[in-house]
Amino acid sequence: MAAQHGANMIEDERAEGYRIIGGRADGGLVILCDHASNAMPAGYGTLGLDEGQLQRHIAYDIGAEAIAERLAAALGVPALFTRVSRLLIDPNRGEDDPTLIMQLSDGAVVPANKDLPAAEREHRLARFYRPYHAAIDRVVGACRASGRPPLIFSVHSMTPAMKGVLRPWPVSILWHNDFGLARLLLDAFRTAGPWMVGDNEPYTGGLEGDTLWQHAHPHGLPNAVIEYRQDLVAGAEGQAVWADHTARILRAILAAHSNARLKDYAS
Ligand SMILES: [Zn+2]
Repeated sequence: MAAQHGANMIEDERAEGYRIIGGRADGGLVILCDHASNAMPAGYGTLGLDEGQLQRHIAYDIGAEAIAERLAAALGVPALFTRVSRLLIDPNRGEDDPTLIMQLSDGAVVPANKDLPAAEREHRLARFYRPYHAAIDRVVGACRASGRPPLIFSVHSMTPAMKGVLRPWPVSILWHNDFGLARLLLDAFRTAGPWMVGDNEPYTGGLEGDTLWQHAHPHGLPNAVIEYRQDLVAGAEGQAVWADHTARILRAILAAHSNARLKDYAS
């Protein structure tokens, strides 16, 4: 997307731990992709894991980055992406969350994370985690200052099964204490196609300290997480199909609720 300039534009930006795709500050929407990348910075190797483990969902959300990119392009709104693996440090956790740096993830022991020295933990926070969150703060702040408070839409993907239990939902909506946007999304996805839509399944969006907790709740911004099932969005074709569905739905929500007072819808 060509960079555009102006008071109401968020600029493209690229740093070591995150990147921003620019877009309209007054577009009513900020897209987040916390688990975009399975990349490891120089010096970290594979954290002691077999290379193949870095291709699995434990390292990143398969398909999520491409869908978030497509949404940002389709809607002309800013999107933020991490550029390192969640195995290094998980941005979708509070700094005090015990799963911030996983020692064991879905059966895989992460050798380099075991008995992690406090100084290395602090280093990862300062080098990767906090710059990403500071960037979200800046973008959300600029969008709020535009006069049109943004919805915050967080793009993730989930495995087709966990611990032997199949997940029947191609897409799930997760939410915490703000059901307004989630309800609109659930209604729209259920109307759009012959598929099941998870409502706070396979797990709840109510995680204190997570990204939406940090950046949407304090400002009262409507927010939701979407989880795409990875078997459907691992390839470019599925990514395009599901990004199209989602863009159409978000566009309709933004048009119908231009003041973004979606909490009123829930009450
Ligand atoms: Zn995720």
